[in-house]
This record gives sequence, structure tokens and C-alpha cells, in this order.
Amino acid sequence: MKNIASSEQLMMVAVNCPGYVATSNNFTNTVGANNCKSCTNCSNWQNNKCTVNLFDSVLTDLDQG
Ligand code: SF4
Repeated sequence: MKNIASSEQLMMVAVNCPGYVATSNNFTNTVGANNCKSCTNCSNWQNNKCTVNLFDSVLTDLDQG
């Protein structure tokens, strides 16, 4: 997928992604942290893409759901 993901997509994918790794441990301990979940806050997100190739499959599952 060559499209640039919207910030909304980045958040929706992160919330549903089994491979999400918060870049900051403090994030998950904060009240309402789910609102901050986004691929941009994931350790696997580098140079605007998912280095473990989960993004497309998670996004596809969301579309089908
Ligand atoms: S960057 Fe990749 S591993 Fe991290 S939440 Fe997004 S899709 Fe999942």
C-alpha cells in the first residue's frame, strides 16, 4: 500500500495491533492512554512505515470488520 496513512488510521491500527510497542513506558500508565495510541508512538514505526509489516494486515482486518 503506497497511500500515506491518515493520523486516524495510525491510531485505529495501533489500538488493534498485536505488535504495538509503546516508545515510552509512561504512555501505557497514563489515564486515557488509549487515546494516545498511534503507530507514531510505536517502536516499530520508522520513517513513516511499520518495520514489522503489521500495518497493512491490521488495516485490512479493520476494513473487513
Ligand atoms: S507501527 Fe506496526 S507494530 Fe506498531 S502499532 Fe503500527 S502496525 Fe502495529
